Amino acid sequence: MRIDSARSDQLQEWESELSAQYQRICQHELSLDLTRGKPSADQLHLSDGLDGILNGDYRAADGTDTRNYGGLEGLQCARELGADILQVPTEEVMAAGNSSLTLMYHAVLTGYLFGFAGNTPWREMKSPKFLCPVPGYDRHFSICEQLGIGMVNVPMTATGPDMDAVEEQIRGDSEIIGIWCVPKFSNPTGVTYDKETVDRLAQLGQFANPGFRIFWDNAYAIHDLEHQVNLPGIREATHENDTGDSVLQFASTSKVTHAGAGLAFVSASEANLASLKKQMQAMTIGPDKVNQLRHSRFFGEFTLLREHMQKHAQILNPKFECVQSQLEKAFADTDLGTWEEPKGGYFVSFNTRPGCAAAVIQLAADAGVKLTPAGATFPYGKDPEDRNIRIAPSFPPLEELDTAMSVFVLCVKLASVRKQLG
Ligand code: PLP
Repeated sequence: MRIDSARSDQLQEWESELSAQYQRICQHELSLDLTRGKPSADQLHLSDGLDGILNGDYRAADGTDTRNYGGLEGLQCARELGADILQVPTEEVMAAGNSSLTLMYHAVLTGYLFGFAGNTPWREMKSPKFLCPVPGYDRHFSICEQLGIGMVNVPMTATGPDMDAVEEQIRGDSEIIGIWCVPKFSNPTGVTYDKETVDRLAQLGQFANPGFRIFWDNAYAIHDLEHQVNLPGIREATHENDTGDSVLQFASTSKVTHAGAGLAFVSASEANLASLKKQMQAMTIGPDKVNQLRHSRFFGEFTLLREHMQKHAQILNPKFECVQSQLEKAFADTDLGTWEEPKGGYFVSFNTRPGCAAAVIQLAADAGVKLTPAGATFPYGKDPEDRNIRIAPSFPPLEELDTAMSVFVLCVKLASVRKQLG
C-alpha cells in the first residue's frame, strides 16, 4: 500500500475494505492496553527471592545495622551495585530509595533553588530552559513543566540527539541550563547514543552556562535483549574535556527487580553530589537500607545481575519480536510509517504519516486497544507533526499483544487512507 501514488478510486476502495475490517474488530469488544511500560508479572517473579533473603541478618558487611537511621549516601554495598550498573567509581555514587525519577526531581530542584557547585540558581535567571530530545520521556518534561522551566525541542536521530541543533541552541542562548538524555535504549525510540554524540555532549560544558547540567538518565543501562550493546562512557568523555561537573547520571533497579520496590542511584562529581546532599539532607535522614542490603545479597556479584537480566530478556524477546514482525508485515513496503528496531529497553516508537497519530489512537481506543495518548512523548503534550506513537510491549501476555498489534496496524492503515482522502 503506497498512499502518495494512489489514485482516489484506489483510496476509496481501500477505505471501504479497511472500514469493514475495522467494524468487525469493534464487535469483539476488546479491552487491551499497550500503554504500560512496566514489567509483566512473569518478570516480577524473577525477583521474588528478595523476600525473606535477610533471614534475620540485618548487618551489612561493613557492620552497619541496616534497620537503623542514617547513611544519606546509602550502604556501601548498594553504592557498589550502582557503580557496576553505571560503570563509575563507587565514591561517586549515592544509593537511594525506590525511584530514580525522584532523584532526578531532586536534582532539578537543587539546580533550580540553590544552584549546583556554587553556580547561580536557575530560578534567578529570566528564562531558564532545558533541551528536550524528542520524542522523549514524558515524566522528564513534567518535572520542567511543574517548575516553570522552559523546554526546547531538539530532534532525536538514529545515533542520539541532533548534536548540531543542540550546539546551536546552547551557543545562541546562555539560559539553556540542562538537557534530558536517555542514552541507552532511549524512551521511546530505543536508540543508543554513539561515540561521537557522547563526545560532543561532553564538550558542551566548555561553552554552555556554567550551571548547565546533562541529566543522563541511564534507566535501561543493563536492559539488553539479545546482545549487549555498548554505550560509550559519558564520565570518561567529560573527564577528557575537563567538564566533569556538567553531568549527573541516574539508574535504578525498577525494571530489574520489583518495579515499585527497588533502588535508585545517582552518580556525579564530588561538587555536584555535595550540592545534592545539602538539599536532600533537609528532607531525609537516609534511605531504606534494609532494602538496599536485600538487593546486595540477592545479586552478590555483578555477573549474577547480568544473568538475571538475561532472564528478563528471554521473557521480553518474543514480545519485541511480535511487534517487529507485525510492523514489518504491515508496513515494510509502504509509505504509512517508520519505526526503530530497539535492541533493548521497553519501547518501540512508531511514526505515522504527518497528522495521523491522534486519529490512530482514537480509532484504536474505540476498538478497545488503549495506546499512549497522542503527544505524550513531547513537551507540553504537543507533537508538532502529530506523528509519534509509543508502543509498550512488556506488560500484556504475548497473545494479547499480538491481537492488540493487529488492531494497531489496521488503525494506522485506516487513519492514513482517510487522512489522504481528506
Ligand atoms: N527514566 C526513564 C527513561 C524511564 O523510562 C522510567 C520508567 O519508565 C523511569 C526513568 C522511572 O524510573 P524509576 O522507576 O527509577 O523512577
